[in-house]
Amino acid sequence: MQLARKVPGKDEFDETLRYFENQLSTHKVEIKTGAAASVQMIIDENFEEIIIATGVAPRQIELDGIDHAKTATYPQILSGERTCGDNVAIIGAGGIGFDVADFLSALESDDRTPEAFLNDWGVDQGLEVKGGISPHGPSLEQSARQITLLQRTSGKPGRSLGFTTGWAVIKALKRRGVSILTGVTYERISDEGLHIEMEGKKTIIPADTIVICAGQESRTSLHEELSMAGVSTHIIGGAAKAGELDALRAISQGYNLALSL
Ligand SMILES: Cc1cc2nc3c(=O)[nH]c(=O)nc-3n(C[C@H](O)[C@H](O)[C@H](O)COP(=O)(O)OP(=O)(O)OC[C@H]3O[C@@H](n4cnc5c(N)ncnc54)[C@H](O)[C@@H]3O)c2cc1C
Repeated sequence: MQLARKVPGKDEFDETLRYFENQLSTHKVEIKTGAAASVQMIIDENFEEIIIATGVAPRQIELDGIDHAKTATYPQILSGERTCGDNVAIIGAGGIGFDVADFLSALESDDRTPEAFLNDWGVDQGLEVKGGISPHGPSLEQSARQITLLQRTSGKPGRSLGFTTGWAVIKALKRRGVSILTGVTYERISDEGLHIEMEGKKTIIPADTIVICAGQESRTSLHEELSMAGVSTHIIGGAAKAGELDALRAISQGYNLALSL
């Protein structure tokens, strides 16, 4: 959630975090941070029930040059641990790939007022123009970065985005100048950038940063180590199923499990 809340428009996650912070404090739940839970630590504490909610880790891909200094993971970019140059390639156009494109192309003038929203989308506020579309149309302000979002499969991009909101995300990115390429085969990463093949033609995206958004994998090592040590646990959230971005599923699994204990 700390990563999700950095994405423009997903700052409502702040409210979820604020809610849980208050609830945990009200119910005097002890929180220990800054240390990874280990098998020994858990055994020593002699807990009656153990719930593993260790989430996901970014999927690593095999690609010639993947260890190049140009490559970065999405947590490195969203957390601010790494910054991007002016020319960015994003490998993977799933939900997180789009979120990273949105985050990196966000305009300097990121005004979040309703007036700015209407101006941005070219909505006539005077209610005088037919169709409600202002004569100057939507804003064409471009991102300062050249961003290319790439997808391996051909066909329509953004199929994993929300049914009612995905089209708006794609439109906004295109307006800011983000290119979305589909049916791409990744060949290698070099000092020149990302080498790809598309429609039978080889080309290079001259990126100075290549962000890998190639999915996620459940972080299950603690669960497996505890099972091997004969300690039984419950596993929920991303640790149980990496799948799509789904905080609702993780939270509901947590509630239902807690109710059943
Ligand atoms: C960029 C981005 C955008 C997203 N957007 C959305 C969205 O729009 N809608 C939506 O529903 N979901 C979204 N999500 C997904 C949502 O954040 C996750 O589904 C949800 O956080 C999963 O919760 P979780 O508890 O399973 O795991 P996480 O929230 O990942 O939490 C796992 C925690 O366990 C910790 N941990 C791991 N191993 C150990 C260990 N050994 N000891 C101690 N701690 C450990 C990790 O550090 C982490 O803090 C987004 C995620 C990202 C990254």
